[in-house]
Amino acid sequence: MTTRESRCVGYLFSDRSHETIMTPEMFTAEQRALFGAVAAFTEKEVVPRRKEIEAKTPGLMAALLKKAGGIGALGLDIADEHGGSGTDKTTSMLMAESISREGGFAVSFGAHTGIGTLPIVFFGTDEQKQRYLPALATGEKLAAYALTEAGSGSDALAARATATLSADGKHWILNGQKQWITNAGFADVFIVFAKIDGTQFTGFIVERGMPGVSIGPEEHKLGIRGSSTCTLILENVPVPVQNVLGEPGRGHRIAFNVLNVGRLKLGVFAVGGVKSILRETLPYARERRQFGKALIEFPLIREKFATLLADLYALESMGYRATGAIDAYTAETGKGMEALEELNIESSILKVFGSELLGRAADEALQILGGYGYMEDYPLAKVYRDVRINRIFEGTNEINRMLVPGVLLKRAMKGQLPLMDAFQAASASVSLPEDVVDRATVQARTLALILTGRAAMQFMQGLEEEQEALAALADIHQAAFGLDSVRRRLVQADNQALHLPLARAYAIQEMDRLIARAGRFALDLGGAELHAELAPLLAPLPVSRTAALREVATRYVERGQYWLGAGTVA
Ligand SMILES: Cc1cc2nc3c(=O)[nH]c(=O)nc-3n(C[C@H](O)[C@H](O)[C@H](O)COP(=O)(O)OP(=O)(O)OC[C@H]3O[C@@H](n4cnc5c(N)ncnc54)[C@H](O)[C@@H]3O)c2cc1C
Repeated sequence: MTTRESRCVGYLFSDRSHETIMTPEMFTAEQRALFGAVAAFTEKEVVPRRKEIEAKTPGLMAALLKKAGGIGALGLDIADEHGGSGTDKTTSMLMAESISREGGFAVSFGAHTGIGTLPIVFFGTDEQKQRYLPALATGEKLAAYALTEAGSGSDALAARATATLSADGKHWILNGQKQWITNAGFADVFIVFAKIDGTQFTGFIVERGMPGVSIGPEEHKLGIRGSSTCTLILENVPVPVQNVLGEPGRGHRIAFNVLNVGRLKLGVFAVGGVKSILRETLPYARERRQFGKALIEFPLIREKFATLLADLYALESMGYRATGAIDAYTAETGKGMEALEELNIESSILKVFGSELLGRAADEALQILGGYGYMEDYPLAKVYRDVRINRIFEGTNEINRMLVPGVLLKRAMKGQLPLMDAFQAASASVSLPEDVVDRATVQARTLALILTGRAAMQFMQGLEEEQEALAALADIHQAAFGLDSVRRRLVQADNQALHLPLARAYAIQEMDRLIARAGRFALDLGGAELHAELAPLLAPLPVSRTAALREVATRYVERGQYWLGAGTVA
C-alpha cells in the first residue's frame, strides 16, 4: 500500500519523495464524468450568455446559479444529510476548474459555494446546517460573505461593525456597513463579521429579510462586471442568538480558514481560466496571417504559448497535489477543517501563482491578438479586465506572500514542523543530479531551506517587519513547491513522454526566475559572501531553454490543445 502525503510543506522533505501525491492522472472515471458534465453546462448555459451576464441582466446570475444547483454543482462541499453530495476536495476543486470560463459567473459561483456556504459547513451547529444548507445546496437560497469594510480590507480584524445583546438576551443587534460584497445584490444569506461590544470579533448568519438589512447600489467595476458587488448596510438588525456562527470572539478562525479554501479554489479556478484562454487564442493564431505566414508559425508567438503551458502544468500539479493532501488528511483524521488549515501555506502559494499566471496568460493572449485583442468585439479585452481582481481579493498577493514564510516559521518554532534540523542540514554542497528536473528540484528545495533558516536566524522576531525578505522567501518556496510537484507527477506518470517536455520547460524557466530572486535575496541577506557560498545552487540549468520551449510548442500545435489534466484524454 502506498502512503499518501498529507502534511504541509511536503515539498521541503526529500524523505517524503516515496509518498504518492495526487495528480490529475489519478482522477477517477466519476470525477472526469462530473468535470465533463459541468464543463458542458458552462459551455451551453454560461458562455453563450457572456454579454447578458456582463450587462447584469436582472435575475440572470441568480437564475444561472440555481441552474448550476440543479445539476448538483452547488452541493459538493455539503454533506448528504444536508442536501449535498459531500464529495472530496479534489472533486469539488475539479468542478471549480470546469466552471471557470466566464469571470463574472465564476466569481459569483465561488462566493456562493465557497466563502458564502463553507462557514456554515465547517462552523455551523446541527440546527444551523439543517436550516440553511439544503437550500444553499440547490440554489434556492444564495449566499455571500461580508468581511470587508471601508476602513478595513487587508486588516480585516479592524472591522467596526458591532453586535450588542438585546435587553431580553434573544438577539444580537448588528450595526455597520460591509463593502464590496460579492452576490450582495441577490443573496439571501450573509455571513457577517462584527464585534460583540466592539471587541470580540464574531461570525453571524444574517438573512436578507431581517429588519434593518439593506443593500447599496451595484458598484461599477473594471472587470467581472457580471458579478454583483454592493454594500451591505446593517441598521439595528436583530439577529437571533441562535445565528451566532462558531464561538463568540473566535470569528477570526472562521474568516481566515474560509479564506484559505477560497485561496486554494482561486488557484484551481486559474487552471481552468488559463486553459480557457489558451483554447480561445490558438485558433486565432492559426488563422491570422502576417508576412505570408500564420502567427503560430512565428517562434516568438509559439514561445508565449509554451511558457504559459509549462507554468500551467506546474499550477495544475501543485493544485491537485494540495487537494489530494487535504483529502488524505481528512481521511486519516476525519477533520476537514483542520486539513484545510494544515495546507494553508500551499493555498497561499496557489493563490499567488495562479492569479499571476492567469494575469500573464490574459496579457500574452491579448498580445497574440494584437490590436484586435484590444477591441471589445473580441473576448480577450473582457478577460483581461476580468482577471485583474484575482490579485486583490481572497487576501491580496502581498498579504499572501507574507503569510507563506510567516506561517511556516511559526509552525517551525512551535515544533509542529521538523524544520529546524532541516535548515541546519541543508548545504550548498549537496550533490546535484544530472537530470534537469531532478536537479532543479534539489536546487530549489536546498535554497528554500538555507535561505529561510538564515533569514530566521538573522532577523529573529524582527522578520515580520522585513517584508521584502518575506516576499522573496514566498517566491522561493513557490518554486520549491512547483518543482517538487512537477517532478513527482512526472515520476508517477505511466506515460512519462507526455509529461517530459512540460516538466523540463517548467524546470528551466522556474530556475531562471528562482536564480534571479534567490540570488538577489542572498545578496540582501549575506552580501557577496553568501552569494558565493550558494553559487552551485544559483547556477542556471545547463541546457537550452529555447529548445525546451520549442518542443512544448510543437506538441501543442500538433495536438491542438493542452494534452494533460481534466477534460483531456491522453
Ligand atoms: C470585486 C471585489 C469583490 C469583493 N468581494 C468581497 C466579498 O465578497 N466579501 C468581502 O468581505 N470582501 C470582498 N472584497 C474585498 C477584498 O477582499 C478587499 O478588497 C481586499 O481584502 C483588499 O482590501 P482593500 O481593498 O481594502 O485594500 P488594502 O488593504 O487597503 O490594501 C491596499 C494595498 O496595500 C497593500 N497592503 C495592505 N496591508 C499591507 C501590509 N500589511 N503590508 C504590505 N502591504 C499591504 C495591499 O496588498 C494592497 O496592495 C471584494 C473586493 C472587490 C474589489
